[in-house]
Amino acid sequence: MPSSALVFPSAAPAERLWPGGPRLPADGFQPLDPTPELLAELAEASARLEAAQPEQIIAWAHQRFAPHLTMATAFGPEGAVILSMLARIAPETYVFNLDTGYQFLETLDLRDRIARKYGIEVDMLQPALTVPQYEAQHGGPLYKINPNQCCFDRKVKVLRAAAQGHHAWMSGIRRDQSPDRARAAIVEWDKKFNLVKISPLANWTKKDVWTRIMAEDVPYNPLHDQGYPSIGCWPCTRAVADGETDDRAGRWSGTAKTECGLHTLEQQDGSGI
Ligand code: SF4
Repeated sequence: MPSSALVFPSAAPAERLWPGGPRLPADGFQPLDPTPELLAELAEASARLEAAQPEQIIAWAHQRFAPHLTMATAFGPEGAVILSMLARIAPETYVFNLDTGYQFLETLDLRDRIARKYGIEVDMLQPALTVPQYEAQHGGPLYKINPNQCCFDRKVKVLRAAAQGHHAWMSGIRRDQSPDRARAAIVEWDKKFNLVKISPLANWTKKDVWTRIMAEDVPYNPLHDQGYPSIGCWPCTRAVADGETDDRAGRWSGTAKTECGLHTLEQQDGSGI
């Protein structure tokens, strides 16, 4: 079992941009430039890895981009499965969570359960303003009147800052989750964050994910057993009702919003597609 000590890649800088926030890029760090040569390499790798197992995709990403490979997780079932794979392939990979201040206690507890099982301590990255400061600035909870701005301030901006100092990030999205996610490549250039984006589970189904969780006793959020197939911040997540087939029906329920803006290209304000 890997050590439970927090491990950062050797090139990771020590200073944070703000208390609890992402870290400054290391001295001498050069971001990747999306040159035609790089884009061609990514397209070729993506096509070659289309039929690969997630472990093979993660191993390729580690070999190609470490120590500048990172992963963002919201502690969903897919993220937990990738963490279980990373523990075997590259446990030193820097993994972070966008800790909005509005996450369920069960989600925060899962972070510790994963650390105990796999020795991977996910770094909880917080926005520059605490929840009380943010709500005071806006005269109350912004998620009630402008969730796009709230997601932008408390997720997208933090991920954008966290992207500095890295070349590539992994995410747990699956193509069958939504029409928007159906367009995800295994490997692609992410214009929004100026990083290579790798989606090792793009071709997996929900059943594949849960089969792995059950087979390997991967820790998961107990709210999934209480009617919450998809879990985000508590103010914007509800349990789904019997007969609701869309797993994301409980996210921003009653609004047109379907995504926090992390996995969409068109909008820059957290509105999603
Ligand atoms: S999911 Fe809701 S509470 Fe969380 S950042 Fe977005 S709008 Fe704010």
